[in-house]
Amino acid sequence: MIVLIHKDSKPEQIKRLIEWLAQFNLQVHISEGKLQTILGLIGDTSKVDVDLVRSMEIVEDVKRIQEPYKNANRKFHAENTVVPVGNTVVGDGGLTLIAGPCSIESEEQVKEVAKAVKASGATMLRGGAFKPRTSPYAFQGMGADGLKLLLAAKAETGLPVVTEIMNVGQLPLFDDVDVIQVGARNMQNFDLLKELGRLRKPVLLKRGLSSTMEELLMSAEYIMAGGNENVILCERGIRTFETYTRNTLDISAVPLLKQLSHLPVIVDPSHATGLSKLVRPLSLAAVAAGVDGLMIEVHNNPACALCDGPQSLTPEAFDVVAKEVRLVHETLRNVRSGG
Ligand code: PEP
Ligand code: MN
Repeated sequence: MIVLIHKDSKPEQIKRLIEWLAQFNLQVHISEGKLQTILGLIGDTSKVDVDLVRSMEIVEDVKRIQEPYKNANRKFHAENTVVPVGNTVVGDGGLTLIAGPCSIESEEQVKEVAKAVKASGATMLRGGAFKPRTSPYAFQGMGADGLKLLLAAKAETGLPVVTEIMNVGQLPLFDDVDVIQVGARNMQNFDLLKELGRLRKPVLLKRGLSSTMEELLMSAEYIMAGGNENVILCERGIRTFETYTRNTLDISAVPLLKQLSHLPVIVDPSHATGLSKLVRPLSLAAVAAGVDGLMIEVHNNPACALCDGPQSLTPEAFDVVAKEVRLVHETLRNVRSGG
């Protein structure tokens, strides 16, 4: 980190700042020029509050050289993190396919979809029991009863399950859930993130509606700082001025997050667009961009879905997408390995 000091600052003021910085165990290098004094801070600066330093009277500007996240940072962990989930893993170079309904609606619905997506090659089943809906009058999910149905589908198909938690109080219900999803709206629910950091269970962390990649990585850092390294990042589209799609898929987030972090990255093309007809092309784009997996909404009768029908694929349409994305993934893998 570099701190630029105002040129008319007094030596005692600079000395006081250096003394204050001592609490962070950093090496402080002072460069005194005719026009400007610069402090170079060497070491782990993640605990230094940049805004606080910038607000100090003698400070003209502060520049971060190192990212404010450490555990999630590839600089400190060169190898890809591979997250174990049930009998499978995420992030080992394979392509994880998570599929299932937006919301669990009935035993028949979740089991029918689970069997169909498994037959098409899905390696995990998704389904929401607690739904974060914009309208309080919309279907809010089946809650604990929905979780039971999801776990029954897991028992029947052997597929590990991913489902969303909305608050810390729901945690005791998630004992048999394989991956806990933190939805876009809860990406900065810091109490929840801290609590999930105390577990060792995988967490699928979705990017907030208007969150930067750095904010997403800082949220991952909350979980990892508690000791839970099993974090999967999910790009699910961000808010832009575009209205033809529900959100805008930030495809550049895929290679960038993979460069900045060692954590697995997946894409959710369903929430990214809100349109079932865009799920196939965006899934292919995401795979070409280097994702570790996809999370796709599938419903046995999208027209009658209680939530997100317009973006849900039929099992038949999912089968086509699954085949194509695997083909692209395999082809790229072979080309890259010289095969
Ligand atoms: C979901 O996956 O069911 C969901 C609500 O997604 P998001 O948090 O990305 O909106
Ligand atoms: Mn949904």
